[in-house]
Amino acid sequence: MSSHGRRVARIGCLAAAFAFGLAARARAVAQQPAITPEMLARHIHVLAHDSMRGRATPSPELEKAAAYVEEVFRGAGLGPAGDGGAYQQRFPLRPSAASGDPSAPNVVGLLGGRDPVLRGEYVVVVAHMDHLGIGRSERGDSIRNGADDNASGTAGVLALAAAFGRQVTRPRRSILFLVVSGEERGMLGSRYFVAHPTVPFERIVGLVNLDMISRNRPDSVFLNGWGKSTISGLVRRLAAEHPELGLGVGPDVQDRPQTPADSDHWPFQRRGVPYIFFYTGEHGDYHGPTDHAERTDPDKASRVTRLAFYTVWEMAESTERPQWGAEARRLNVSPR
Ligand SMILES: [Zn+2]
Repeated sequence: MSSHGRRVARIGCLAAAFAFGLAARARAVAQQPAITPEMLARHIHVLAHDSMRGRATPSPELEKAAAYVEEVFRGAGLGPAGDGGAYQQRFPLRPSAASGDPSAPNVVGLLGGRDPVLRGEYVVVVAHMDHLGIGRSERGDSIRNGADDNASGTAGVLALAAAFGRQVTRPRRSILFLVVSGEERGMLGSRYFVAHPTVPFERIVGLVNLDMISRNRPDSVFLNGWGKSTISGLVRRLAAEHPELGLGVGPDVQDRPQTPADSDHWPFQRRGVPYIFFYTGEHGDYHGPTDHAERTDPDKASRVTRLAFYTVWEMAESTERPQWGAEARRLNVSPR
């Protein structure tokens, strides 16, 4: 998560529920996703390892992270949905004397839907893989490992890709798995994707963002976007229907009626895409050298990811598209 726009504010009385329409036609049922704490821990440890040197945008280590994501997408059976038949979408960075004409990677994978018509619509799952690189040394440690921020959310997207890839029956809509970089420099990768979408933008029906999902109390997760669209009512229903996840859901106190520009849902939301953002809150290691893999809670991250799995499944399966609340749309969607 990027620090700009992170001012704490109470959301007020916007927590109105929106009914989520159930389709009358026969629906496929999601198989139990094989999303385990071990899987989340493995991905977090790889991405947040000291050898990744904090995955700065740009850096050779960010390229290593992108290659890792690409390999998992390929193994999960996702199709490449970046530029020119590749998994990567490259975006330009400001040229500098030190690095010449730099660029940075987004990694984009596609799982086609089963419905001949609705497969032309997309649910986007996004997380950022970059972090802050090397910073000021504190107690002999200068690497900003970014384990919670955001190896955890990236691990979640990788686990979702594997879980959806294994489903015998796919949901109706297609799912676009988008792992971006440049978030910590102002959401550069997600802004670029929105300006240069690799699928028709108006056919993106909704978005799920995972950014910092592995810390704090084990029994709850914040929903940024609470009460703003039908998606938050959907997630509340799914959390209640899956008590085995042990997750209560509530509004993110850092959210506001006008969504702060603090993570990768924002460029999409401004262009009208209803979203939900799973977030487990700030902590003393935020953006410091101690955001280490050992301090994450992979069990919690796996349960948040399973809740995200059911959410994405329903968004991709329901014949009805997620809908903004009227007031939230007025405040958050830019008329262009
Ligand atoms: Zn951050």
